Amino acid sequence: MYNSDIEKILVSNAEIAKRAEEIAAQINADYKGKPILVVGILRGASIFLADIFKRLEGDVELDFMSLSSYGSGTNSSGEVKMIKDLSEPVDGKNVLIIEDIIDTGITLSYLIKVLEARNPESIKLCALLDKPSRRKVELKGDYIGFEIPDEYVVGYGLDYAEKYRNLPDVCVLSKTVYEK
Ligand code: 5GP
Repeated sequence: MYNSDIEKILVSNAEIAKRAEEIAAQINADYKGKPILVVGILRGASIFLADIFKRLEGDVELDFMSLSSYGSGTNSSGEVKMIKDLSEPVDGKNVLIIEDIIDTGITLSYLIKVLEARNPESIKLCALLDKPSRRKVELKGDYIGFEIPDEYVVGYGLDYAEKYRNLPDVCVLSKTVYEK
């Protein structure tokens, strides 16, 4: 189905659909109708965010932020840049961050520090994927779709040099694409 840029499917579209339903049900149970401000991290989280967001019950707001810690390669620069800030204030709100993947944890620990300084009522973190073996700073997600091994993945919103976001499954990118 995929060309030779893709080594294999790691998490299928069907598995993601099932897990997103479970996570949304868990979030609904945990917040029990309390208002939530969902903060989507552009651009990678956008596809997964929609899976979760449309299943949330009650009073739910949506805002976006764009951060960057990667250049065009597969390794984090360790430096986080804020490309787009939120449009609305977060003070007193229950913030639920939705991210594509937690890798070293550097991006999200930066983001959580920035948001904590704005006095929200609470902050929780939801991510489609987690690579715990790559962690450089301590960080734990509250809602994790799938723990994955140390492989560079694309698809379902995740890119390599802005390509492959449209693949319906989370796939391992062939090393031949980036080890040239
Ligand atoms: P961290 O700061 O946790 O190292 O990096 C988080 C960001 O790095 C993610 O939001 C994502 O943009 C990018 N990233 C980390 N691992 C991968 C991966 O395997 N594939 C893709 N496409 N991006 C990744």
